Amino acid sequence: MPTYDYECQTCGHKFEAKQSMKDPHLTDCPVEGCPGPVKRKIGLGAGFIFKGNGFYITDYRSDSYKAAAKKDSESAAASSSSTPAATSPAPAASTPAPAKPTGT
Ligand SMILES: [Zn+2]
Repeated sequence: MPTYDYECQTCGHKFEAKQSMKDPHLTDCPVEGCPGPVKRKIGLGAGFIFKGNGFYITDYRSDSYKAAAKKDSESAAASSSSTPAATSPAPAASTPAPAKPTGT
């Protein structure tokens, strides 16, 4: 399913929308309170690029993304396991001040 670029004619907000070619064009701006309308931008042969080079770009990106995601999850797991959250003794902050005996 191709991704179309839309640009709001009122606030200039740009966004992408995955649509079938049979779907009607979007007209509403996703920005809250903005009346729109939005205009679909026709890229320079975007459809052809999507079919051709897009495959390789997506493949390359997914590969590097997986590597980055794996690295990220590993570091996250390591940091979370080394965090002494449950075993560290809480400092006794509420130690009562020693009462000095008075009137002896
Ligand atoms: Zn807008």
